[in-house]
Amino acid sequence: MIKRWQHLSRNNILLEVKNLKKHFPIRKGILKREVARAKAVDGIDMYIREGETLGLVGESGCGKTTAGRSLLRLIEPTAGEIIFRSKKLAGPGEEYRMVNVAAASHKLLMTLRRDMQIIFQDPYSSLNPRMTVGAIIGEPLLVHGLAKGSELKDRVCGVLAAVGLNADHMKRYPHEFSGGQRQRIGIARALVLDPQLIIADEPVSALDVSIQAQVINLLEDLQHKFGLTYLFISHDLSVIKHISNRVAVMYLGKIVELAKTEELFLNPKHPYTEALISAVPVPDPDHNVEEIILKGDVPTPVNPPSGCYFHPRCRYTQEICKNEPPCYRDLGGKHYVTCHFAESLSL
Ligand code: SF4
Repeated sequence: MIKRWQHLSRNNILLEVKNLKKHFPIRKGILKREVARAKAVDGIDMYIREGETLGLVGESGCGKTTAGRSLLRLIEPTAGEIIFRSKKLAGPGEEYRMVNVAAASHKLLMTLRRDMQIIFQDPYSSLNPRMTVGAIIGEPLLVHGLAKGSELKDRVCGVLAAVGLNADHMKRYPHEFSGGQRQRIGIARALVLDPQLIIADEPVSALDVSIQAQVINLLEDLQHKFGLTYLFISHDLSVIKHISNRVAVMYLGKIVELAKTEELFLNPKHPYTEALISAVPVPDPDHNVEEIILKGDVPTPVNPPSGCYFHPRCRYTQEICKNEPPCYRDLGGKHYVTCHFAESLSL
């Protein structure tokens, strides 16, 4: 039987996400009855082409990290499909195999983890302080039975060199390194299994600004050298603009706009994107675009607003926005927007 997502292979698409949801139950009482649900991710659709960087941006609490972790099944998704084109699962005579990560068995997931890795936000808490750097980076090779002894040591040395560290660092502990070096160790741990896709979850937001640029440059160099594909999650639009080929903007568990980076910044079509772009500092005294201050706080995902989730904060709200949720649609040229008035607003 031909599965409906087998067309992906023709378009160089590495990962396609369909209607992904992650709802967290809120329980109360002695019997822990479910009384409500926090819709952290509420039906997102997107794809990532091989070798590209897709930026995922939005305010804190909009569901970016939950979405990234659900893709790897570090958090179990509530619903949806995550179709991945795995080279490591390819059989004899096959170049790759299409797998629905959301429905994969535990055994299959173990193999898939070699293809899909994550870099965590906090380089301080994501490394085990009791393990040496050599043991931290070598652990995935041992767990997957891919190397041991001198071969393991050679592979760890190779990956340390790739991230700008050296073999002497293998015997040291994480506390002996600076924040930037620790993030390099986190990147080395993600790289050691030779993955196709890396989900970088706010990889530079805990670092000093001067170090951020070094780590971003390193990620770009590694992408070119090893043909990596990134989902780059950040709340910082300047970083996203620099590193991404395309950008997806998230608000309250939904993608509200997705387009090529240049198109999104020059021609935003969603009022939320417009507000985020207006808040990016520009080092030019002649640049006098007024910052749009969004009204109120991000609503709770437990009880999101009716209609368009953005309507209580949107300066273009009309009656229909309060009652009917806008659908996610392509305005042409693969510029996707979730707004009733995307065509008519001049932002
Ligand atoms: Fe604003 Fe209405 Fe568009 Fe929502 S649908 S973003 S409330 S104009």
